[in-house]
This record gives sequence, structure tokens and C-alpha cells, in this order.
Amino acid sequence: MKLKFKSFFCFVLALLLAASALVPAGLSETPYTKYSRRALDIFNTEITLMGYTRTEAEFSQAYEDTLALLRRYDQIFDAYNACEGLNNLYYVNRHAAEGPVEIPEELFSLISWCKEQWGKGLRSTNIAMGAVLSIWHEYREAGLADPENAQLPPVEALLAASEHTDFDNVILDAEKQTVFFADPQITLDVGAVAKGWAADAVLPYLKEHMPSFLISLGGNVYVGDPPLDGRANWAVGIEDPRPDENGGGLMYRDIVDVHGLTVVTSGDCWRYYMVDGQRYHHIIDPETLFPSTKMISVTIICESSTLADFLSTTLFVLSLEDGLKLIEGMEGVEALWMLPDGSEQASSGMGQYLRSLKNAGGAQ
Ligand code: AMP
Ligand code: MG
Repeated sequence: MKLKFKSFFCFVLALLLAASALVPAGLSETPYTKYSRRALDIFNTEITLMGYTRTEAEFSQAYEDTLALLRRYDQIFDAYNACEGLNNLYYVNRHAAEGPVEIPEELFSLISWCKEQWGKGLRSTNIAMGAVLSIWHEYREAGLADPENAQLPPVEALLAASEHTDFDNVILDAEKQTVFFADPQITLDVGAVAKGWAADAVLPYLKEHMPSFLISLGGNVYVGDPPLDGRANWAVGIEDPRPDENGGGLMYRDIVDVHGLTVVTSGDCWRYYMVDGQRYHHIIDPETLFPSTKMISVTIICESSTLADFLSTTLFVLSLEDGLKLIEGMEGVEALWMLPDGSEQASSGMGQYLRSLKNAGGAQ
């Protein structure tokens, strides 16, 4: 009986401690509330911020501050629009062959990180492939504007452009923070990594201002500490790239339960155009210079959103065999592949996150 009372007392104490963690002493008695807002005008995608603050005003402030940071990164990484007073990617692509261009530290950091991966032999995601990607961009935009007359880019134009995609011709100077193009026809497109980099870049701010949050930039999600509603994890849906073929309308193919991690998906279903009834999406295989057809979606889970974004594009282009080899050799990185025949493949540690595998007894 005595023991029972003691354990009941411990239980109540634990509850009180848990509650006090939500309302730290000395601060307002107001409990945390979950808020959520979304924007549609940055990075050409839907951005959602969900998080806990004590007041709506606090949340609004955090949301506006986060959007201001993201807006700046979007301008810096924009390869298609100039931004006055800023040596953004558009400016770099036009002037870096004339001589070294001093660039914002955010751009320098992203280009040098990508060049490091190139140096390690990871070359399926090549941000120096701008010459090829801009041709696809132009034809996709024209095809979307006028679907009846949608066309494929001429192979000769793609082949000629592919002669100007050697990342070694992008010369960086860390001391002066400059970039110089040794090939006058080379250009950069950071679309494969920019959202992941931006998600990582706003983390310090979000961690300082919210005890728990989720930020989503299109297919790029980062979740902070567990939600304050008692759940051990955030649930992040992995979209079904073929909802119509799978009964229609089901948005998610699976769910991952995670905290303190990023979940990034590359798929062929979000940015594409149709030519003669065929889908031509936006992830280009450097080998074929055409949209890669090996996968329909690839999801990466790890700590760094920059790495996850880079890898989701990389694995989308690589064969399953090469992708598996790459991921199994990396610590703290898991992947889920969805193939065109409807089958799925998960890396060996994915079972700890993926609900379907957990339900099937694949993990504790
Ligand atoms: P993601 O959705 O992260 O896979 O990135 C797709 C975007 O990355 C495209 O819209 C292009 O701007 C760019 N991209 C496509 N294919 C490649 C590639 N093989 N290497 C580098 N960037 C690419
Ligand atoms: Mg990517």
C-alpha cells in the first residue's frame, strides 16, 4: 500500500514536472498553443510553418521573421530573375565568366558545399548543369502556357549544352568570397538543393523561438522536438506520386514518425509538362539529358536538410542498386524509393520511422 502510494506520488510529480516544462517558472502562465500558417509566394512552392507559442502575436512574429529570411534566400538563389542591388544567381550566371564576382555568403556556402560533393564523386546532382536545365525550363514553361503546342527540346541543343556542365570550371575563392566561370557558357541552377539549404538556415531562429515546430518548403520538411500534445513524434506524410492510379484521391502513400530530423522527397509529379501524352518532369539525368525514369519518388530522412535535398535528387537519378549502395554507406541517412511499377524499397534503417514497416513488425 505504502509502495502504491509512493508510485502514485511519483506519477503525480512526473505529471507536474512535465506540465512545468510547458510553462517554465517565471514566465507567463499562458500555456503553449499550436499555430499554423502558409505562404505561396516563396521558392515557387507552398511553405508551411507550424509551431507552439504562448500567443498568436508571438507566432505571427516568428512566422514573419522566418518568411523574411526565406524570401532573401529565394532572391539570392533565383537563376531566372534579377534582384536589384544583389549579386544573386541570375547576376552570377550572366557575369561570372567576365571575372570573379563577389557573392552573398549564403550563395557562396551553397555552391561550395555542392562542389565538395562533386569532389567526392557524387555527380548525379550537378548544379553546374544550368545550361541543360535552362533549356528544359524554357520548353516546360512554353508547354505549360500552350499545352496544345508543347514540344521537347531538340537533342542537339541538349548535347551542345551538356558540353558546358563541368563543375571544375566553377572557380571559388573563399577568402574573397567570389565565383568565377572558367567556361563562358557554364551556368548554375541550385533548384535541387536550395530549399533544403534554406530549411537548415532558418533552424537556429526557429529553435530559439519555439519549443517545437514543423517547417515545410514544398517537399522539404524539417521537424523540431516532439509536439507538445504528448506524442513522441511528428507524423509526416509521404505523398503518393500516383494518387489517381491508386484508388484516386489518397494523398499519402505512407507516414513517417520523426522528430529532430528532416524528411525530403523528390518526385516526378510536382513539376512537369505533357508532350504527346507523355509526362516530362523536372529532374534531369546528366547521362541521358532527359527526365530520369528510374523512380517516381525518393524520400530521404536525416539530420541535414541540405544533404537530404541533394540526396533525394541524386537517388532519383541513380539506379536502385547504386542508390542503395550509397545510402547504406552513409551513417544517419535513410531512404525510401518508389518505383514506376508501384513497388517500394526502403533502406535498412527506415523501419524505425516508416509506419507501414512498423505495423508490419519491421521495427520496434
Ligand atoms: P528536387 O525537387 O530537389 O529533386 O530538385 C529538382 C530541381 O533541381 C529541378 O527543378 C532543377 O532545377 C534541378 N535539377 C534537376 N535535375 C538536376 C540534376 N541532375 N542535378 C542538379 N540539379 C537538377
Ligand atoms: Mg533535391
